[in-house]
Order: sequence, then structure tokens, then C-alpha cells
Amino acid sequence: MAKLNKCSFCGRTEKEVRLLIYGVDGYICDECVEQAAEIVRESKASSAHKDPDLENLPKPKEIKAYLDQYVIGQDAAKMTLSVAVYNHYKRLNYHGGSNDVELEKSNIIMVGSTGTGKTLLARTIAKMLLVPFAIVDATVLTEAGYVGEDVESLLVRLLQAADGDVKLAEKGIVFIDEIDKIARKGDNPSITRDVSGEGVQQGLLKLLEGSVVNVPPQGGRKHPEQQFIQVDTRNILFICGGAFDGIEKRIAQRLNTHVVGFDASRNVAKIDKANMMQYIAPMDLKSFGLIPEIIGRLPVLTHLEPLDRTALRSILTEPKNSIVKQYIKLLEIDGVKLTFQPEVLDYVVDKAVEFGLGARGLRSLIEVIMMNPMFEVPSLGVKEYVVTLDYARRQVESANIAVLKESSEDK
Ligand code: ADP
Repeated sequence: MAKLNKCSFCGRTEKEVRLLIYGVDGYICDECVEQAAEIVRESKASSAHKDPDLENLPKPKEIKAYLDQYVIGQDAAKMTLSVAVYNHYKRLNYHGGSNDVELEKSNIIMVGSTGTGKTLLARTIAKMLLVPFAIVDATVLTEAGYVGEDVESLLVRLLQAADGDVKLAEKGIVFIDEIDKIARKGDNPSITRDVSGEGVQQGLLKLLEGSVVNVPPQGGRKHPEQQFIQVDTRNILFICGGAFDGIEKRIAQRLNTHVVGFDASRNVAKIDKANMMQYIAPMDLKSFGLIPEIIGRLPVLTHLEPLDRTALRSILTEPKNSIVKQYIKLLEIDGVKLTFQPEVLDYVVDKAVEFGLGARGLRSLIEVIMMNPMFEVPSLGVKEYVVTLDYARRQVESANIAVLKESSEDK
């Protein structure tokens, strides 16, 4: 009788298994393939969350280069983030002697108008991180006892990102978006109860300072009979982002009041009025309504630049997953080569600027232009499709601008 081939892993013959795969020098059956795949998956998952080892850490320059693939410009913020993340890894790895220098964390605050890429930066960095990462929105937070979420709920998201592993979560990074929305509402805090402002800031302070916090496992409200998970926030890195609408005026005021003396006129002339954000200082955050204790706990202050026409034009085509590349890919799957006349892209930038939509508007405008082609082209049986300026213009002009605005505000 002919000798039956056997799986080199479990020893079962080809008759006993559904599928036997041949290798150079042996065989493997379908079940062993599945088991092996499971082992690989598990080991990948555990190594992804192991303390990153010092030698293989991505260096700040590498982190920035990664961000450069997805985010246009914003070099100051990118450098700050890259250094912060790298230092965070180092702190986690460093277990110095008892008399050694203690490496303290430096939480970060990023200030920049809406739609300049704060959240995009946070999302992009999350993709390459070796520690758990959560993005949370400060607008949902209210002081304990009021409708909304307690500050501790920030940590629930981080725990989820760490698959419930508290030790891992304690080494994670939290991005708090829209931190400006919890600014104190008025200069006189006693007029009305400020449950979503200063009270939340006080709550947040505990987390930023580093303390052991009771976290309700399912998030939301704390109940007296609930079991809490204790999370130590000492090693958690907090990155905050906010638009701080109107802060430029405060910066300008401060700069004007400071420029006195015989050199004053020269200094004023040097100020770049188009980009006041670059002069931001901690006292501007204070005058906006953040309490000094919070500002003190966010020692690294960085800014995002307003996006000019050149930046907007690059955002359309250059990022690795730019909106234009996404449409080209979508039609490529149908076997159609999509191209945009360069003037179309210039026109889209013009319209985004004209409508005051910024980077968010680019997507809405391209979507309006591509609505019909995406419907028609797959059935046309063509190999190529060119979006012309005339066509783009007609689409945008017939679209309801109010709708356009709304759709980009939703994003
Ligand atoms: P913010 O958080 O600052 O309000 P977002 O990061 O949400 O702004 O940006 C909105 C959208 O605009 C992003 O999804 C992205 O498509 C685009 N965008 C904004 N800034 C940039 C940038 N610097 N580079 C690439 N795309 C950007």
C-alpha cells in the first residue's frame, strides 16, 4: 500500500485531515495552520503591548517622518509630539537607582484653529504607538453629580485600549480634544455654577498631576455600590488639544502692551500678524479661562499654524491617504484610471478658502464634485475618466452651499 503523507506537526495522515499543504521538506494540515496563525496573532498582540525596548524605539526623527506622510506642515507640533512620545517610552524603560534622577513626564497642550490637524496628528501618532492610546473629548465632561460624564471616564477609554489590562493602561497616552471647551466661562466664577468649566478643570488636575483614581469599569456615572478599578495616572502621558477661538486677540493685546520703550515700533513691525498663534504663551491660556494649576501641569505648549493656500493644495494630494488618492483608488478597483485636471484642485482650494471651510471643506467639495461620477462611471465601461474644471465648477455651483458648509462642520 502506498505510504500516506502526514502532517509534520500533528502526525495525522492526508486521509484524516481536510487539507494537507506541501512544503519543501514536509507537510502541514489545515488545522495546524490555523493553530499556528493563532499563536502568531497572540504573540504579536502581546509584543505590541510589551514595554518597548530602548534599542528598537523609533527615534524622534523617525516618528516625525511617519507623521510627515499623513500631516502637511505643522512642524513645530510634530517635533514636540515626536520628542514627547520618545521621552515617554524612555521613562517607561528607565528604572534608575534610588538616588537617580527621576524622569518626570511633560504633558502637552496643542493650540491651533479648528481644522488645522490637531486630531489628525493624534490619530496618526496612535497608529504607530507601542503603548495604549485613547482620544477623548472634553466637551462631554461635567463636574461630578451633573448630567454628563465624570472626569474619570477619560481613563475608561484608555483601559479599553489596553484590553482591560490596568498595568498597560497606566503606561498609555490620552489625547484630550477640545480642552478649550472647559475653560472658565467668565472672569467671575461665582455668578453661576460652572459645572462644565472650572469644576471639570479641578477634576482633571488630579489626573494630570498623577494620582490613584477610582475608575468606574463601564464609564459614565459613578454609583456608590459599584466596584472601581484603581488606575495610577503618574505615568500616563496627557496630550491636550484645543482651538481656543479668539485667543489671537489676547495674544495681540499682550504683545502690544509689552512692546513699550524706544524699540517698540521696530518690535511691532516684526510681529507676523497673519499667524499670531506662534507667539502663544501660558498667560494667554490663563486669560482664556484655564486655571493656572492646569496650565502648570501642561508644561509643553505648542501651536499649529493656520493652513495657507499652498498647504491646502498639498493636503489634497500629498498625504498618503489624501482625499484625491482615495477617489483614485476607489475607481481603480473598477478598472478606471481617474485623473483630475490640476485646475480642478486649484479651484477646490479657492472655494475652500472663499467659503472659509479650511481643510475640512476640501473633502466636502471633492465629494460634491465626485458624487455623479461615482454613480455613473462604474457602468460606463470606460478605462479612463478625467474630471475637468468646467465639470467641477458646475457641480459646486449647483450644490447648495449651506449644505456644503454643514457637511464640513459635521466632520
Ligand atoms: P482639528 O482637530 O485641528 O480641528 P482635524 O485634525 O480634525 O482638525 O482636521 C480636519 C481634517 O482636515 C482632517 O481629517 C484632514 O483631512 C484635514 N487636515 C487638517 N489639517 C491637515 C494637515 N495639516 N495635513 C493634512 N490634512 C489635514
